[in-house]
Amino acid sequence: MRAILLKNIALDGSQKDILIKDGIIADICAPEGAGADITPDAEIVDCRGKAAFPGFINMHTHAGMALMRGMQEDVNFQVWIDNVWKMEKGIDPDFIYWSTKAAALEMIKTGTTTFNDQYWFIPDAHRAVAEMGISPVFSYVFLDGGDASKAERQKDEFLSLYEQSLSWKDDAKLIVTFHAVYSVSEELIVWAAEFARKHNLLLHAHLSETRSEVENCKASHGGLSPVEYLDRLGILGPDLIAAHTLWLSDNDIRLLGEHKVNCVHNINSNLKLASGYQFKYQELRDAGANVCLGTDGCASSNNLDMLEAMKTSAIVQKAWRDDPTAMPLEELAAAATINGARALHLNTGEIAVGKRADILIVDTDNSFFLSPAPFLANFVYSAHSDCIDSVIAGGRFVMKHRIVTGEKEILEGARTVLYKIKP
Ligand SMILES: [Zn+2]
Repeated sequence: MRAILLKNIALDGSQKDILIKDGIIADICAPEGAGADITPDAEIVDCRGKAAFPGFINMHTHAGMALMRGMQEDVNFQVWIDNVWKMEKGIDPDFIYWSTKAAALEMIKTGTTTFNDQYWFIPDAHRAVAEMGISPVFSYVFLDGGDASKAERQKDEFLSLYEQSLSWKDDAKLIVTFHAVYSVSEELIVWAAEFARKHNLLLHAHLSETRSEVENCKASHGGLSPVEYLDRLGILGPDLIAAHTLWLSDNDIRLLGEHKVNCVHNINSNLKLASGYQFKYQELRDAGANVCLGTDGCASSNNLDMLEAMKTSAIVQKAWRDDPTAMPLEELAAAATINGARALHLNTGEIAVGKRADILIVDTDNSFFLSPAPFLANFVYSAHSDCIDSVIAGGRFVMKHRIVTGEKEILEGARTVLYKIKP
């Protein structure tokens, strides 16, 4: 792998050179300081007028839904999910390949270098992302709807996927999802969690996303909320990635904190489906939970833009609490980067020596950065993701000056499968 030297790039308020070797950040030093370590074939990139930021980690999405955007507008959550399940009857490996590839293209163009995905036909999604060069975490989805024969089929399918995943040669990772407490039988939730823990795989689920999910859970499980129900089953832990965690009691927050659960806030999806917006950021953080950000799938949030997710998360948090200090910039940035790396057990999420080289090169030579303010303030609140000029993932350029190799072919390929999900 060719070494890369980013020369004169702004990092945390000062000019630096960043040397990348074998996919890792090998050195960060004052400009002109890295000379001794540079091999003659290194690619030297003049980064004056640009700033470095860690690649985003989208902690909850469904890449295979990238071609379903805009299909279910102005409907309530139950109608939305029923219609999604109807549309999903038309999907097949070819659809997933193109949809995931289009999603990866969009993620690269908006600065995401790692994503935690939850969808079907994982071998095809894996092939699509491997061709794009970013790092996927794929979650097999258990969703039996209480049907025992379906549960058995899913166990068999998962076990064969697990065997396959052992020979994956790239840095893709397999984890285990139980879709939600309302869509998966107790027996299957417990089986999935036990398997995951025995084989050192992370767990992922939708949790307390809507008020009715909580009410229905209480009605069918002796007054226990979804969080309390999972606690009773022994599922809560630092290996659980819980998407949404929006409707929480004080006891739920205490349990999520005590068990150091990773809670993923997906504000745009929640706002769009009117699931709620009062995410208890400060309470979860103070209780000990690891708060991360995600976009959710395009069927609800319409895009995969993490910078947009950051801005919306912060401004909604400030608004509903009537407190402009409610989500400080540094913490917001951590939720979109390093906290995700911690949850996924990956050596990335920050620009530091020894970390995987997942780096955004942000163009600051435009009006959005035209003030003496810190970079982060203008990046989050003033700019848009198209100020991301180039993206390095795992030490390789996956976008250079806004160009991703094969973009036109991906759009053309994706158009050939759109007919499969006509409403
Ligand atoms: Zn979701």
